[in-house]
Amino acid sequence: MSTSTILVWFRHDLRLADNRALIRAAVDGAHVIPIYILDDETPGRWRAGGASRWWLHHSLASLADDLEMRGSRLVLRRGNARDVLPALASETKATAVHCSRAYQPWAAVLESDLKAKFDRSGITFRRFTGTLLFEPESLRTKAGEPFKVYTPFWRAAQDVDVHPPEPAHKQIPPPSRWPKSDNLASWKLLPTRPDWSGGFRETWTPGSAGATRQLERFLKSALVDYADARNRPDQPATSRLSPHLAFGEISPATIWHRARHAANGQPALSKGLEVFLKELAWREFSYHLLTHWPTLPEHPFRPEFARFPWRNDAELLHAWQKGRTGYPIVDAGMRELWHTGAMHNRVRMISASFLIKDLMISWQTGEAWFWDTLVDADLASNAASWQWVAGSGADAAPYFRIFNPSKQGETFDPDGAYVRRWVPELARLPNDLIHRPWEASAMDLRAAAIELGKDYPTRIVDHAAARDQALLAFKQLRAV
Ligand code: FAD
Repeated sequence: MSTSTILVWFRHDLRLADNRALIRAAVDGAHVIPIYILDDETPGRWRAGGASRWWLHHSLASLADDLEMRGSRLVLRRGNARDVLPALASETKATAVHCSRAYQPWAAVLESDLKAKFDRSGITFRRFTGTLLFEPESLRTKAGEPFKVYTPFWRAAQDVDVHPPEPAHKQIPPPSRWPKSDNLASWKLLPTRPDWSGGFRETWTPGSAGATRQLERFLKSALVDYADARNRPDQPATSRLSPHLAFGEISPATIWHRARHAANGQPALSKGLEVFLKELAWREFSYHLLTHWPTLPEHPFRPEFARFPWRNDAELLHAWQKGRTGYPIVDAGMRELWHTGAMHNRVRMISASFLIKDLMISWQTGEAWFWDTLVDADLASNAASWQWVAGSGADAAPYFRIFNPSKQGETFDPDGAYVRRWVPELARLPNDLIHRPWEASAMDLRAAAIELGKDYPTRIVDHAAARDQALLAFKQLRAV
């Protein structure tokens, strides 16, 4: 039995199963000290937003319970990881520090600073792949360049062997003396005045057990229709695994292998499986882009977009944020986001397009709002997706492809069920008007008990005119 002590530094990998940083430490027979550091300093403006902090609280509580069931604990410390981790290593006389690699631009700098510090003190610092299916540097084009286009990236990704997930270690050897830990409640991650998290509590079960249940539910009931129904916000057709993935409560390798296993020998599931794995690969692609273009969250991938004449209009922005634009599908999405911390992918695209193109407010403004309000806020996926919608990203939708919110609503929420759920004041409008209430006659509105401008806002912009204006600005941008 080894007498060495290994610190296992949890980051975006809040789980025991398929966590190689933890499993390797336990296999080595060392005394293991699991630690989580709340570091609001290193990420700067990208410190965790309000919705993520709510999730983090519950996820840490769940991880601590899981560790206790295996004879261990979770030590909590707060501060700059650059100082906190070496201090704890010296306090506990640790011989090694393990972690899963993180991919945010600041994380790479932090990891290399820590490595240098630990090298000087003779402590081994080991990083493992844990939050992605494979390292973002492992795929290159034939010319040896990073990919900018998703389809060839996906083609190349299919040749990668995704490692089989490892089960959690049964017992995690504790140290003879535990270092001090903060009390989770003292971090005040949960909202209080006001407590806006009621809808979050109704919607989610953070933690690894919740993630596994969610995966199994999806594979059993929704994978079969996933290819066709994944664009329908009115149906429970997608996995809803993104926040669990963002916090690493389940590894992407576990999802990858479990989905393939569930579909094995079941031809009815093969199409759904293929599309689902492709979506997981979009997450990998986003990290590939972020790793090779670390300014992705702040700067347009296509530099000409830096000159776009964005509007700075607090009133329009507020109407969008609060779901009061007068466009039902946009408002439904923004209210779903506020109430539950999530929004269906199709509606994210529609509402992002509305902000960028109809309101001409910058994608960075929308990205920041999503960062604060999404429980699955993820630097790579959020930045890559906002740039994709804006047309400024790698492999982006062309700028001139402007979503018409009413037509999108009619196509993807044909019976208006999604709008009725999140914008109940419109519930009594008939299906042919629910996505365009401004076309309702006075009689229709009376029958549906709505006064436009009072019970539900009139449109804050006219889509056709806004579209022309956006296209003109784009044309001028290209002409320069
Ligand atoms: P499923 O359809 O079940 O997909 C399975 C998994 O694949 C998801 O959990 C997710 O990890 C991954 N995935 C699916 N679509 C994408 C995508 N387009 N890009 C990257 N990964 C994807 N996703 C985030 O995880 N965090 C974000 O901060 C985020 N911000 C977004 C912002 C905008 C403007 C848009 C248009 C999309 C954003 N997405 C983001 C991508 C996508 O909307 C969510 O991943 C998806 O809605 C999560 O729901 P699900 O788990 O049910 O997805």
